[in-house]
Order: sequence, then C-alpha cells, then structure tokens
Amino acid sequence: MATSLLREAGTALVDLVLPRTCAGCGVPGAMLCPRCAPLLAAPRLAEPRRFPAGFPPTVAAGAYAGPVRPAINAFKEQGRAELAAPLGAALALAVVAVRLGSGAPARPVVLVPVPTSPAAVRARGRDHVRELTARAAAELRAAGVPATGCPTLRRRGRIRDSAGLSASQRRANLAGTFALDAHRRPAGALLVLVDDVVTTGATLTEAASVLAAGLPPGDLPVLAAVVAATPRSPGTPRADPVRAGRYRAGNVLWDDLDRLSRPGRRD
Ligand SMILES: [Zn+2]
Repeated sequence: MATSLLREAGTALVDLVLPRTCAGCGVPGAMLCPRCAPLLAAPRLAEPRRFPAGFPPTVAAGAYAGPVRPAINAFKEQGRAELAAPLGAALALAVVAVRLGSGAPARPVVLVPVPTSPAAVRARGRDHVRELTARAAAELRAAGVPATGCPTLRRRGRIRDSAGLSASQRRANLAGTFALDAHRRPAGALLVLVDDVVTTGATLTEAASVLAAGLPPGDLPVLAAVVAATPRSPGTPRADPVRAGRYRAGNVLWDDLDRLSRPGRRD
C-alpha cells in the first residue's frame, strides 16, 4: 500500500514538473490519448509482405502506422518506460487473440520474448521487450489467463544491421542468431513469441524455428504476438494464414477479449 501511494505521489509530481503528452500524437494529457489508444486495441493477423516460409501465426494489437509508430519509438528509444503499461496491455490483447485461434484455448501460455541484442540493451540501458513481456503476463493473469514470461531464447554471435537487406539476406543474416536454453524450456504450455513490432517477419520466423525445434512432434505450432505489425499494403494478395498446422485463424473470437484491460482504458 505504502509503495503504491508513493508511486502515485511520484507520478503526480512528475506530471507537475513534466506535463505528460500523448506518445502517439503529442497532445497534452494521457500518455496515450483517447484517439490514439484504440489504435492498439484492434487485433489483426500480421501479414508481412512476403510471408517468409515458417512465419508463425502472429497477431498484432494494431497496425504499425500513424501515431502507433512514434508511441512505440518513445517507449523503445526515448526512455518513456511508463508506456510499458498501455503497450503491455496491447500485447496481452494480441496474446489472447492468437491463443483463441490455436485450437487449445485453455492451455496456459508461456510468453517467450524475442531476445534483444546485448549491444542494444547496453545502449538503451534496459530490455524493453522483457519489460513488455512482464507487463503482458501480469495483464493476462489479472484477466484469468494463466501466463508466465519465460526468456528461453538467447542471442548468440553478432548480426549485421539488417537495413537494406533482402528477405533472403535477412534470413541468412539471422541464421544461428538464437539459441534455446533447454534448461528453461517449459513443457505442456502454448508457446507465444512476443516482440514489439513485426515488419518483414524474418526475426519471428527464425526465433520460431529455434523454439519449435524443442517441441515434441505433433505439438501445436509456436505462435507469436506483437504490439504492432506493418500493415499489408493495398493490392497485395492476402496470404494464407492457416499454413501452420492446426492453427485456425477463423476461430478467433474477438468478442472474448473483453476481460482484458485495453491500452488507455485506465490511463
Ligand atoms: Zn494521441
């Protein structure tokens, strides 16, 4: 109690000294304003432009476009760590949506953060994906969904900056990047990779292939959930999202997401 009172007092003090602005559009007030927050409460299947072979069924809480881009950037690169609350809530929403389509919607979920490179963690002074993972897991548990965060993947070796690389070059660049920490791999749970953003899908594909290698044959596919996904460009043929075994995107019951808080609902 004393801790939460102190935290509230601290937040009020910060608001006095540094009036908060919406991280999406910059208007004074909530950290995500009532116009921007709903942009991260619109779950959809992520559809990278060229579905990489093995791309896991992935749900995003919103499109990586418009005000969502600066909001995620403020959290990731500009140290606005308080955005872990609404962005973590958005991620939880995406996790519930992808779990509903899994064919095993009662299984506990294990959220596996896509590991950030040690250099990026050093540069930022924090691991923002782990922060999101912890927040999303707490949101899910509060909504009655058994969930834990479990960093079973780790980075190894160095990778080149992927800017300017083609899809196949990105994949080659990422091959061997991730290693599975066998001692920490949980059994019997639905594995959901989590990340802030998916763009080409190369990172999620590589991470999912490493994670899936540790699953028993015939088990459910590795799923993924992200805060935001690059929107499908108009005119691009819709890819078939049901390519991953028993995952049934058509069964996603969006109305069942109401138990979760949403980004901005408590802001
Ligand atoms: Zn806004």
